[in-house]
Amino acid sequence: MSDGAKSQRRAFVTGIGGQDGSYLAELLLAQGCEVHGLVRSLPSPLSSASTRPPYVPEAVRLHVGDVTDHDATRALLAEIAPREVYHLAAMSSVARSWAEPELAREVNADAAIALLEAVAEMDAVGHDIRFVQASSAEIFGAPSVSPQDESTPIAPTNPYGEAKAAAHLAVGEARAQGVHASSLVLYNHESPRRPLAFVTRKITRGVAAIARGEASELVLGNLDARRDWGWAPDYVDALVRAAGAESADDYVIATGVGHSVREFVAAAFAAAGIDDWEHLVRVDPEFFRPVDATELVGDASRARQALGWAPTVAFTDVVARMVAADLG
Ligand code: GDP
Repeated sequence: MSDGAKSQRRAFVTGIGGQDGSYLAELLLAQGCEVHGLVRSLPSPLSSASTRPPYVPEAVRLHVGDVTDHDATRALLAEIAPREVYHLAAMSSVARSWAEPELAREVNADAAIALLEAVAEMDAVGHDIRFVQASSAEIFGAPSVSPQDESTPIAPTNPYGEAKAAAHLAVGEARAQGVHASSLVLYNHESPRRPLAFVTRKITRGVAAIARGEASELVLGNLDARRDWGWAPDYVDALVRAAGAESADDYVIATGVGHSVREFVAAAFAAAGIDDWEHLVRVDPEFFRPVDATELVGDASRARQALGWAPTVAFTDVVARMVAADLG
C-alpha cells in the first residue's frame, strides 16, 4: 500500500443497503472518502453490478456479513482500519420490533455495543476511530415534553426504542472512556428510497397509484399520530458532521416541526393534484400500534450550534419530492 493510500480517508458503514446508507455513501464518496459497506447478503453469489443493493454506488466496497456476528465484524474492522465508522445497521421498523423483540435487541442493541467495543480496542492500540451511532427519537418513547432535546429522559415504549436506547447509552459510556463516539438521535427522515413499511412511502406510493387510476383507496392506521419528518440526505449530512467534529457528543437531529399522518396524506394528495381525498382513505385497526408515541418533535439547537447543521428541505417539499418520484 502506498503512503497515499494509507493516508486516504476511509469509512466503514454498516447497513449501507438501507435508505440512509446509500445517501451516506454518496456524500462520503463526494468528499473523496473511500467507503466500505457491510451488507447482510448479496442476492447472487456473483457480486456483479446488477446484484448490488439498490442505490449503493459502484465505488463502495461491499463486504458480506451480519452485525450480529460480533467476531466477524471485529475482524473486518481490523482489516479495513477505517477512520470513521457509521453504525446504521438496524431493524428499522418499530412495527416489526413488536413481532420480533429478541431480534430487535440482538441487532439494535447487542451488535452496536459489540462494535463499539471493537472500536475501543482499536483505539487502545493507537488506531483512532470516530464512531457515529444512528440513534432514534424512539428512545424518548411517549415524552411529556415537546420538543425533545438531548436532556429529555430516555424512556422507550417499544422494543425498537428499548434496544436503540441501550446502544445510545453505550455510546455515552464509550465516550466517557475516551472514544470519539457520537450518538445522533435521528427523528423520522424520509425520501423516495424509504421502504414501504414506513407510513410516508406507503402514502406517497398509494397516492401515486390512485392518481394513475391503479388503486381506489389507501388503507392506513392512526391518522392522528404526529411525527417530525425531515429529508433523509440532510440527516446523513449530520452524521458526517458529527464524525468530523473536534469532540464527540450526542445530538438530536430534527426539523422541529411536527405534522400528523393526516397532514402528510393531505400534502401527498395535493402534490398529486387531488384536493378531495377524504373518501379515498380508509382507517383499518390492523395498522394501529400497541403503543404509539403521539408527539415526537425534536429540538436540534445543539447540532445547529456545534455542527452548523440545519434541515434544508421543508415538509411539503419532502412530501412533494416523494410523490413526484412515485408518479415516475
Ligand atoms: P416510525 O415513526 O419509525 O414508527 O415510522 P412509521 O412511518 O412506520 O410510522 C409513523 C407513524 O405513522 C406511526 O405513529 C404509525 O402509527 C402511523 N401510521 C398510521 N398508519 C400507518 C400505516 O399504515 N403504516 C405505518 N407504518 N404507520 C402508520
